[in-house]
Amino acid sequence: MFQTDLFAGETAVVTGASRGIGRAIAEALARHGADVVLAARSVDVLQEVAADLEAAHDVRTLAVPTDVRSADDVTTLAEEASAFGDGAVEIVIANAGANFHVLVAEMSPNAWQTIVNINLTGTFLCLWAFDDALSDARNGRVITLSSIYGRDGHPESAHYAAAKAGIETLTRTTAMEWADRNVRVNCIRPGIVATPGVEDNRGISADDIDRSVVDREIGDPEEIADLAVFLVSPAASYITGQTYTAEGVPKVAH
Ligand code: NAP
Repeated sequence: MFQTDLFAGETAVVTGASRGIGRAIAEALARHGADVVLAARSVDVLQEVAADLEAAHDVRTLAVPTDVRSADDVTTLAEEASAFGDGAVEIVIANAGANFHVLVAEMSPNAWQTIVNINLTGTFLCLWAFDDALSDARNGRVITLSSIYGRDGHPESAHYAAAKAGIETLTRTTAMEWADRNVRVNCIRPGIVATPGVEDNRGISADDIDRSVVDREIGDPEEIADLAVFLVSPAASYITGQTYTAEGVPKVAH
């Protein structure tokens, strides 16, 4: 989208980088020259992604097994990423998230807590742990991930929708607190995106999506990655504390 060395010399951290949207964002940042720290729980998959990025884009990578629900894990991630980036981390993409469907009346407190912990607490911990490293960068940029469910709500997803709504206000509040350190914090609110989970549910893979077609309801992870690249680029220098929706429109008969 931009020149390939746009993020050269910068260190980017992406959580949930083993597949789906996180992997696409990691790939897009590497394609624009960033060294990338990849975080998720499955270290074997992360190492495969890391090897692919190094081979394709001639950047440095680091895979750090991380459960974003754990303050200790996220602290270790921040320490390893800071050391990898010679003290500073310029870009943090707090992308890791999960959902499963259950009605409110049938939701166990443990189910509620699990989804809120992965999405909302996991995002908070990424902001909290990277405070110093982003401040040291003097040009820090953060992206969090909401969902249209966080705007609209959705049956059988109260835990996820509430957590994503919380991420949007967490993003705006943190942007206010970090503006004087030159750290921009924005949120992406995707519609339905063809990640492996959506492929399982709807039988549509990213390979089936023609980006030239406007008349579609499902996006490609690359299209979310393109928005992330824009938001962490200098082209978005006047944008902080905002939530951007990437979504098509429902098909209507006419
Ligand atoms: P995905 O394909 O399910 O991938 C999720 C990623 O997060 C994986 O890398 C997974 O790796 C990691 N992860 C899950 N739990 C984790 C934990 N506790 N600690 C660390 N990493 C964890 O998800 P996606 O569809 O790409 O979604 C990415 C983000 O976009 C999420 O925040 C999601 O809520 C949001 N979003 C997605 C859609 C969509 O339609 N796909 C729409 C709106 C919003 P491990 O399992 O190895 O940890």
